[in-house]
Amino acid sequence: MAKEELECSFCGRKKSETKLLIAGLDAHICDRCIEQAYGIVLEESKQNKGADLSAELMLKKPKAIKSFLDEYIIGQEYTKRIMSVAVYNHYKRLLQAPTDDDIEIQKSNIIMVGQTGTGKTLMAKTIARMLNVPLAIVDATVLTEAGYVGEDVESILTRLLQAADYNLEKAERGIVFIDEIDKIARKSDNPSITRDVSGEGVQQALLKLLEGTVVNVPPKGGRKHPDQKFIEVNTENILFIAGGAFDGIERVITKRLNMQAIGYSSINKGETVDNSNILQYITPRDLKDFGLIPEIIGRLPVLTHMDPLDANTLRAILTEPKNAIIKQYKKLFSMDDVELSVTDGALDFIVKKAVEYKLGARGLRSLCEEILTDAMFNLPGSEETKLNVTKSYAEDKLSKSTLKKLKAVS
Ligand code: ADP
Repeated sequence: MAKEELECSFCGRKKSETKLLIAGLDAHICDRCIEQAYGIVLEESKQNKGADLSAELMLKKPKAIKSFLDEYIIGQEYTKRIMSVAVYNHYKRLLQAPTDDDIEIQKSNIIMVGQTGTGKTLMAKTIARMLNVPLAIVDATVLTEAGYVGEDVESILTRLLQAADYNLEKAERGIVFIDEIDKIARKSDNPSITRDVSGEGVQQALLKLLEGTVVNVPPKGGRKHPDQKFIEVNTENILFIAGGAFDGIERVITKRLNMQAIGYSSINKGETVDNSNILQYITPRDLKDFGLIPEIIGRLPVLTHMDPLDANTLRAILTEPKNAIIKQYKKLFSMDDVELSVTDGALDFIVKKAVEYKLGARGLRSLCEEILTDAMFNLPGSEETKLNVTKSYAEDKLSKSTLKKLKAVS
């Protein structure tokens, strides 16, 4: 008697009807059933991801969040603590089960005030990296009221969708960093001014977004594709972090502090004001005096400041963070089998120049680039296996480049 033809134990297809039949202990499975089962597995794991994410997020307590930030960001202790709590609370709010106690946790959107190059963007980037959520970085200066030349505020969400590879669920848990929020402050103290295209109007338009609403977002952005279908994005669980240098706000703060001193209200006797870091005294009222409308301030309830970077901090930024600038160059050189070393003297020199030219942390990179470009051009493919950058090497390379150019870049 002919041997009975094997068949798939799942769908019953005969071996001849399949491309592949895999044998198990007591059963067989065909290629089609494997494909189908794989689809089910994928679908299941996608659905579980939401739960995984929640669990993952909840594991990170504020102290753990801060430790993570410490790996990438030097100093800024105050902001790191504030951010850790704000981010933790934000995700707690996100995970809260509906209750009947009528207590609704409000969003903890954040506003960071600090000079450029002190690490505001880095802070937002590091948090997004830690949480593994999409991040959109937008510049408030390009935003205008709907109907004017420039980008509508909805374009912020287009960017977020793009950062999330158009995965709506991911985008709706993402982070938006709005840089240069100070540039949309009301230009005039006169609130009755009617046309302030880039100022108060934009603040008004941002309000709803910050608070949490459903917005029709053109997936490709812009108004050039009037036919494109909109995607509905709910901003309720999106964390907004705003940042700005608020040039001149020190004057506003100092003025208030002086007035308080006269009124004996808040500065205690004997307590002196630290003039080297006036921003640490910032309050929401100062933001209002600077020209942000109270409603915007109310929707960015977590206010924090960045400390100015002194020489020690700049020195640490060069070498300490996980992806410190010098570590990056070492890696680049090692890919060409060149071992890069930089002496302490050279590091101090770079910091001195960054301070001298008021380049801040941003300048550190440009300075390194100027110093190392020749070597990065010449060494690959050569016999050299070592490069030791000393102070005189750095001085020599830098004197050949135009520092004016550096100043212009920063
Ligand atoms: P901001 O957004 O405040 O203008 P960035 O975050 O863009 O500043 O910082 C500019 C550069 O300086 C980035 O390359 C960043 O890595 C570096 N940097 C600034 N501050 C710090 C810091 N405190 N620790 C580590 N790197 C920093």
